Amino acid sequence: MDRIRLWDKEFELFIPEQKIQNAIAEMAQRIKTDIADSNPLFVSILNGAFMFTSDLMRELNGPYELTFARYSSYRGTSTTGSVQEIMPVKVDVKDRMVFLLEDIIDTGTTMQYVMNKLREQGAREVRLATMLYKPEAMRCNLVPDYVGLEIPTDFIVGYGLDYDELGRAYRDIYKLKSE
Ligand code: 5GP
Ligand code: MG
Repeated sequence: MDRIRLWDKEFELFIPEQKIQNAIAEMAQRIKTDIADSNPLFVSILNGAFMFTSDLMRELNGPYELTFARYSSYRGTSTTGSVQEIMPVKVDVKDRMVFLLEDIIDTGTTMQYVMNKLREQGAREVRLATMLYKPEAMRCNLVPDYVGLEIPTDFIVGYGLDYDELGRAYRDIYKLKSE
């Protein structure tokens, strides 16, 4: 599919499945090396990171602990700037190496908040892995440790990402068509 329609908006194909999968395979290699012999905790950020998490974990193919958390800072097609805790991390992170798995980093507000909290809770190290990164939109003092693909500041959907809850189930990534 080259084009999709969600609610009132048109989106066009932007990143095909194979490019996403190649980026994840490379990221998994790096993460695997960095894990070394620690007992890491992976924290997948719902809802958007579900597909990325699943594909990354299949690549890692190891004994790792995985948990899920949910925060909200996004409405429609623009960020709100404040973070709500919908389902915070419940696992004890004390002295553990934590890998946060995010779908996309835009302003960085959500991840800055979560990373600070986990450090306060005594995590030994918090690393951030994101499928997509919009470097030009970054408004926090934060650099993701693992980036699948860097993209411009467009609004995108697919591969876990939604536009008002539609569009998460596509295996490719689409961007909003400029009118
Ligand atoms: P940040 O806190 O970095 O500004 O925003 C992060 C969250 O906003 C992401 O986890 C994602 O849920 C949402 N988000 C940011 N950019 C996009 C985008 O282009 N498309 C969609 N669907 N969600 C986005
Ligand atoms: Mg998200």
